[in-house]
Amino acid sequence: MTRQIGCLLLAAALCALTGCGSAAEVSTDGETNQAASSAVQETEEISSSTQQVFAMDTYMTVTAYGDQAEAAVSAAVEEIQRLDALWSVGESDSEISILNDSGSVLLSEETAELVERSLTLYQETEGAFDITIYPLMVEWGFTSGEYQVPTQERIDQLLELVGSDKLEYDAETRQLTLPEGMAIDLGGIAKGYVSSHIMDVFEEYGVVSGMVSLGGNVQTYRTKTDGSLWRVGIENPDATVEALSSVDYVGILSVADKAVITSGGYERYFEEDGVTYHHILDPATGSSARSGLLSVTIVSEDGTLADGLSTSLFVMGKERALTFWAAHSDEFDVVLVEEDGSVTITGGLKDCFESDLDYTCVEN
Ligand code: ADP
Ligand code: MG
Repeated sequence: MTRQIGCLLLAAALCALTGCGSAAEVSTDGETNQAASSAVQETEEISSSTQQVFAMDTYMTVTAYGDQAEAAVSAAVEEIQRLDALWSVGESDSEISILNDSGSVLLSEETAELVERSLTLYQETEGAFDITIYPLMVEWGFTSGEYQVPTQERIDQLLELVGSDKLEYDAETRQLTLPEGMAIDLGGIAKGYVSSHIMDVFEEYGVVSGMVSLGGNVQTYRTKTDGSLWRVGIENPDATVEALSSVDYVGILSVADKAVITSGGYERYFEEDGVTYHHILDPATGSSARSGLLSVTIVSEDGTLADGLSTSLFVMGKERALTFWAAHSDEFDVVLVEEDGSVTITGGLKDCFESDLDYTCVEN
């Protein structure tokens, strides 16, 4: 599927493909389109390839430019499928399902790496990120789509099985043992690992420019082929909020070599008795996190971190999230959207965020 194709066309295609996610590589205004058209001439000789694949419960799009673009994209798609099969809780023969069923396994190197990152995040976020939340995900029906609101008694009972500090993990042997009844799910961090991993695949194949969109989570490789930055839109999390009613996007980030990963309560949810319940659970309560935030977008070179933190900071809420950022501002930046539509960005994004909305920039 290698094609000689200009930037302009590709930007339009990507926009269509990723339009349903929380972030998208956006088409640009007249001025930038002009720049893009001139890029058509400059990049005529650069081969490109793009493929869409359904994995990890979402549509993923991989795009690369370079002499080996087609091989790079094929290799990336194979890696996506391999990692999906390794970690899917929906497949009974995945490594995670075998662990959850048997209670103890020797982890493969990659699974160990992701589990270790998850355990570190559990510590650093003081429990906001917790892969042992899984039994509650099942109880609420987020894994099956058969949604239900559990009784408080049932939630309390299941909370006994939550807490990454209860896992027994030996980093030397990579043996992970779950106490009876406990189970884990890497769904809050796996896509970020995958997008970071694809950057390594791009490197290996000498890709000159590329991007991956995993259900709206974007990671960009270098700049666009004309040397300009990738423009990634942050989806409007709730157009019924008055302050957000006039915009398609909360804002647009111009980036290179960055993951832009969003978590929001609008991604998977159900309603019962007028209350909305969504798929990001607060391990402190066992119910949907109600922290006053509509969405959290993390910008970082490290896709794994960005994914883990988008979930974590959504659970934490604005105040805790900004305190956390202040202590880790060299590792990531963040865009917070609150329930009243207020937008806050952190200092590192000052020069790469554009928005039609008023917003506050917090410096460290
Ligand atoms: P998405 O995968 O929808 O883009 P997230 O990255 O925020 O969004 O991940 C949400 C997923 O993470 C849930 O579907 C569930 O599998 C898992 N999860 C939910 N709450 C937590 C939590 N507090 N800590 C870790 N993982 C969580
Ligand atoms: Mg996440």
